Amino acid sequence: MSEEPIPLARPKMGAREEEEVLEALRSRRLSLGPRLGDFEEALGGYLGCSHVSAVSSGTAALHLCIRAAGAAAGDEVLTTPFSFVSSANCLLYEDATPVFCDIDPHTLNMDPDAAAAAVTDRTSGLLPVHIFGYPADLPAFERLARDRDLWIVEDACEALGAVHADGTAVGARGHLATFGFYPNKQLTTGEGGAVISPSAEIKERIDSERNQGRSPDMGWLDHDRLGFNYRLSDLACALGLAQLERLGEMIEARARIAALYEEAMAGIEGLELPCPNGRGDRRSWFVYVVQLPPEVDRDAAIRALRERGIDSKPYLPAIHLLSFYRERFGHREGEFPVCEDVARRSLALPFFPDLSASQVERVAIALAELLERARSTPQPR
Ligand SMILES: *Cc1c(COP(=O)(O)O)cnc(C)c1O
Repeated sequence: MSEEPIPLARPKMGAREEEEVLEALRSRRLSLGPRLGDFEEALGGYLGCSHVSAVSSGTAALHLCIRAAGAAAGDEVLTTPFSFVSSANCLLYEDATPVFCDIDPHTLNMDPDAAAAAVTDRTSGLLPVHIFGYPADLPAFERLARDRDLWIVEDACEALGAVHADGTAVGARGHLATFGFYPNKQLTTGEGGAVISPSAEIKERIDSERNQGRSPDMGWLDHDRLGFNYRLSDLACALGLAQLERLGEMIEARARIAALYEEAMAGIEGLELPCPNGRGDRRSWFVYVVQLPPEVDRDAAIRALRERGIDSKPYLPAIHLLSFYRERFGHREGEFPVCEDVARRSLALPFFPDLSASQVERVAIALAELLERARSTPQPR
């Protein structure tokens, strides 16, 4: 067949990325060099935030935020079961307990009413995730946090460039917040992440903990607190600097491709598409995830797409039903019905800035045909 395979994700890399990385390489300043501060400053400029710390991954960023928020052993933290596993795992690193709350079926973000109903005397914080780049309902979580004296850490790892209805950038509302720079994200440094801190003091603590507990002025040999090696190398920061130059353009390209998908698939019977921007919130497109009709066998659909060279995957599984979480916390099916229904039917399609209109068309046609076939053939259950 002449048709080329279409991957799920593919980072956009160009001459500027090559130049910046090569320059960093030739400078011999491979870590804790000038590009770390440059990248932090440029990212802060993009977001309108002063206190940015670049770290080795989004998960490392979450871990440092949980510590800075003061989560302690036995604390309950309200979070969403529909997320990448690290938003719940980071709580376990500090022996806090993730208390899952069901999601809004429209935005797929943690439902503020479900969170309000789950608060107990042991609840210490809220960890909303801006899933698939759609802004979580922070105004509602801020009211709940005020009423019940809770901290907030935002997992914005999928949402760089998203904007709340009141015009604030996601991650820039004055809470601890995290971004992630894995290659499928809106911006990549290969591996990497960032913490947004609400104050210079908190940034100082984060910077110290990412670097083995050293203070900025303490030199290399003293350590005044427990720390980690969560540093981001200057090579990675160089990549990030080049990526930031065209972040706006890449985010626009993603939005254009999402619009093409919507146009191509709006007429497919039974298929649910990602929700449009509502109430003034503006999504930053991270992935394109559709919901298959309940009667369609998703594994068979993935195989059929693969036969046509199209990559797809179930996205995301419910965290509480992952085997580790089932075993550790005794979670069972039926606890979070909205999340479980979405997780059972969701399918991520190829999505990246260089995806072409004809590739979008190919995916839409393949999906339409296989759903048509599924409708006309009774499925064994
Ligand atoms: C990508 C991502 C992270 C961070 O992942 P890393 O691989 O550690 O960079 C955290 N939370 C969510 C929701 C993510 O999508």
